Amino acid sequence: MNEVLDAVRAKNPEQREFHQAVDEVFHSIQPVLDRHPEFRRAKVFERLVEPERQVMFRVAWTDDRGEVQVNRGFRVQFSSVIGPYKGGLRFHPSVSLGVVKFLGFEQILKNALTGLPMGGAKGGADFDPKGKSEGEVMRFCQAFATELWRHIGADTDVPAGDIGVGGREVGFMAGQYRRLANRWDGTFTGKGLSFGGSLVRTEATGYGLLYFTEEMLRARNESMQGKSVVVSGSGNVSIYAVQKAQQLGAKVVAMSDSDGFVHDPTGIRLDTIRDIKEVRRGRIREYCDRHQEAKYTPGRGLWRLSCDVALPCATQNELDGDDALALIKNGCKVVAEGANMPCTPEAVHAFLEHRLAFGPAKAANAGGVATSGLEMQQNSMRESWSFADVDRRLMQIMKNVHATCASTAAQYGKPGNLVDGANIAGFHKVAQAMLAQGVM
Ligand code: NDP
Repeated sequence: MNEVLDAVRAKNPEQREFHQAVDEVFHSIQPVLDRHPEFRRAKVFERLVEPERQVMFRVAWTDDRGEVQVNRGFRVQFSSVIGPYKGGLRFHPSVSLGVVKFLGFEQILKNALTGLPMGGAKGGADFDPKGKSEGEVMRFCQAFATELWRHIGADTDVPAGDIGVGGREVGFMAGQYRRLANRWDGTFTGKGLSFGGSLVRTEATGYGLLYFTEEMLRARNESMQGKSVVVSGSGNVSIYAVQKAQQLGAKVVAMSDSDGFVHDPTGIRLDTIRDIKEVRRGRIREYCDRHQEAKYTPGRGLWRLSCDVALPCATQNELDGDDALALIKNGCKVVAEGANMPCTPEAVHAFLEHRLAFGPAKAANAGGVATSGLEMQQNSMRESWSFADVDRRLMQIMKNVHATCASTAAQYGKPGNLVDGANIAGFHKVAQAMLAQGVM
């Protein structure tokens, strides 16, 4: 079977993040392939690592100075075997085909774990929204959606947000889609509340991460109450992870952005962070202008702080093996991934070896896409559910995801290993659907 990994590397050179994501799943699912030779015979894994469709396109737009700018857009539709393609769009200069493919591959298994009928996809562009005017962001989003719209649809492919794509960007793209398709069908999720969005979608990934973390702690007869927490990033996932952690009685002592981090031993004041990030789109260092007790440190180093719970919520490979050992040495007991693949393989290995409670992204951050699934349900029914109703469903989904991962890990002789539990449970569901639908 190692030939499969060699073939993935040879066929997709320089897609480092994609190789990393495939490697991790591949190593977890060996026991499933041993128990189910029919999956092996039908070459389920070999088919799964090849996207059903990949689209790359030019996005040309005009900036405020009248200069033409050109970016590259992507949509990788990985698997629609259990439902319409579903996954976010990322706008960041680091976006490449390899990054989009790693995210799309992870999305297949994550979506399967939610229990909702959603396939896996991901997309984006190497566009940097930072420092762009409102008009520039709108023109870029419209140009991007002008190409994308022909590949998506409510029962085909339903994109959402990710890094650099929030409610504002989704609004511009959903509007352009509606204009070109001449149809309102709820094709994007993460929409504004006045045009089909769902309550709790904005909070969902962060809240879901904490519901999952509470389940991990409950399994150890503990809770978030009184825990000290470090959260990386200060975007959508981080902000609502911090909000829920604080509601659950924890003390969040540090947050970051791509320039550096703030450490506030008295507890992070989230209203200040939200004003800097959500209202003024500023930098996290500005936090210290308002809170003298806090300290700003440029660069990395966040994971050298001591805490009970670490929640990496910024980007892939942001926490490496040395960071993991520093966290363990400083007494950290729980790590749950809010971002996608934020911990390197060396870091994950260290956490599992030292028996920390470790929540892998596919499971721990599935609350975002699960609530997108609830948004699709509301759109189809032409209904709007209350905040409490959506939040209750989200919490139940996260409890189910945790229970599925934990029981699957135990069934396969790996009690407590949620990495293997998530990979096996997600893969098993998708593999069965592929077998049932024949070779394609
Ligand atoms: P946002 O754009 O809202 O925030 C991203 C945050 O991470 C910002 O604070 C940003 O800092 C920081 N960041 C981004 N790139 C880097 C980098 N290369 N190095 C260091 N810091 C960086 O994105 P989201 O909060 O939506 O997404 C964060 C993570 O969560 C991603 O991995 C995403 O795939 C994952 N995720 C998101 C979901 C969602 O519903 N939004 C759902 C599931 C997973 P700066 O502002 O300086 O760039």
